[in-house]
Amino acid sequence: MTVSGREPCTKGNRLQTTAERVRTLTCIICPNGCEIRAENKAGEKEAADWRFEGALCPRGEKYALQEMTDPRRTIATSAAVRGGEEPLVSLRLTEPIPLGCVREAAEEIHRYTLIAPIHAGDVVIRNLLGLGSDVIATRTVKAAVKAVQACTVREEMS
Ligand code: SF4
Repeated sequence: MTVSGREPCTKGNRLQTTAERVRTLTCIICPNGCEIRAENKAGEKEAADWRFEGALCPRGEKYALQEMTDPRRTIATSAAVRGGEEPLVSLRLTEPIPLGCVREAAEEIHRYTLIAPIHAGDVVIRNLLGLGSDVIATRTVKAAVKAVQACTVREEMS
């Protein structure tokens, strides 16, 4: 496990542009896929300044508010493994991170080569870019059996 050493990412905290103060979103919370029109006449990011139309339930408005004020995404990716039975291990974040930091976060993850064995659920990078989200392995990669050990076993059996 390692701790992300780069400067914290703050790109997710930027203010919305004028164009982003009126937007139509498709809610992804359930299969209904409601089209939600979000509008903010005051031009601020405060929750009370937003108005939403088109959501069939409160979960849609909550989703739209999150998207307009602090959009977040998660990352599912992989990293190279040294000394393992597999060359790669799949990874994911424990918490979504600000949308503006996703690219930088992916680049940061790909800087690392992990050493086998790695177990599913292991935290491989803690507090990625200071965003409060850890990177964890989603599968196990065992250490590769060394060729020398394999030869020794064969000799003992003969
Ligand atoms: S607003 Fe409610 S009903 Fe519509 S898609 Fe979102 S969760 Fe489903």
